Amino acid sequence: MITHRNTQQRRAILDYLRNTVSHPRAEDIYVSLKSNFPSLSFGTVYRNLRILSEIGEIQELRYGNSASRFDGNTTNHPHFTCEICGNVFDIEEEFVKLDKVIFSGVKNFVIKSYRLELFGSCLHCKNSHS
Ligand code: ZN
Ligand code: MN
Repeated sequence: MITHRNTQQRRAILDYLRNTVSHPRAEDIYVSLKSNFPSLSFGTVYRNLRILSEIGEIQELRYGNSASRFDGNTTNHPHFTCEICGNVFDIEEEFVKLDKVIFSGVKNFVIKSYRLELFGSCLHCKNSHS
């Protein structure tokens, strides 16, 4: 029974992430799912996010000392973080041309992955702060 509940909760977390473009934090996911899963604990959400990341079903976007964001889209796509509202947006990959050639001069490191993160203000914040 416990196992069944765990499976249901993990499924709900995965579905939630696949159906949002908001790149939520663990806390946001917990708050959103709590009403449907009254027995859900923050620890369970956190643990399931770890597992789902490890098995490659979701990706974790780490931001140093700030809380990680989670993305149901596991492709390597650029993100834009608004420094005013803190929202994280997807940038369509086709609008950003990056080529492997920019890494060709890097000799002293073995590159396993890279992330492109853009920072600034979203249009909504730009318009309301000018
Ligand atoms: Zn903003
Ligand atoms: Mn994304």
